[in-house]
Amino acid sequence: MTRMAAAHAQSLLRAQEATLVAVSKGQSEEKIRQAIHAGVRGFGENRVQEAQDKWARVWCDFPAAHLHMIGALQTNKVREAVKLFDAIHTVDRKSIALALAKEMQKSGKRPSLFIQVNTGEEPQKSGVLPQDASAFITYCKQELELPVIGLMCVPPVSHHPAPHFALLKNMADAHGLTQLSMGMSGDFETAIRFGATHVRIGTALFGERDARM
Ligand SMILES: *Cc1c(COP(=O)(O)O)cnc(C)c1O
Repeated sequence: MTRMAAAHAQSLLRAQEATLVAVSKGQSEEKIRQAIHAGVRGFGENRVQEAQDKWARVWCDFPAAHLHMIGALQTNKVREAVKLFDAIHTVDRKSIALALAKEMQKSGKRPSLFIQVNTGEEPQKSGVLPQDASAFITYCKQELELPVIGLMCVPPVSHHPAPHFALLKNMADAHGLTQLSMGMSGDFETAIRFGATHVRIGTALFGERDARM
């Protein structure tokens, strides 16, 4: 991670009106602090426990930084997730939606939510299937009154991402959702062309991460 890289990414994205989510999973506290010094404010983590440990320390010095949950969420981690994150990008099933609704009611904290769509219909990947997405979005918004602001996807590595981004954009438009979390280090320019509002960039900013993450 260099200051230049972060500053450059931010100015590019500002021009496109997209928000940078700097994916700090598997990255050291030192690199995170450097990114904050370079002006980055939004960070993405994929594990509740890791985020809790790292950010308890970083927040002492930089309370303005905020976190996005970009990894699969388990129901037993929902309470901590609602506490830690300003946005959760990975709502993908009824049990999680229900648990989030319950926890938000209890805590009064309402992080913004994205519904993850498995646009490539990959069995190993999280996300609601495209054919089930419409009903699930309606369920979350109307029945549970969850603060759903947009959709998120991670296209299959072996595909051209453009059709996946286009599909997500169409679904979001059909439901009046304005936010699109799509685009990573390898494909964020394409994602922005298709209307991404949040790009989740890890390695292109920070370099390689700890391989266990
Ligand atoms: C790790 C991860 C990213 C960042 O990936 P890079 O290729 O390092 O930019 C983005 N989104 C999700 C969901 C991730 O798990």
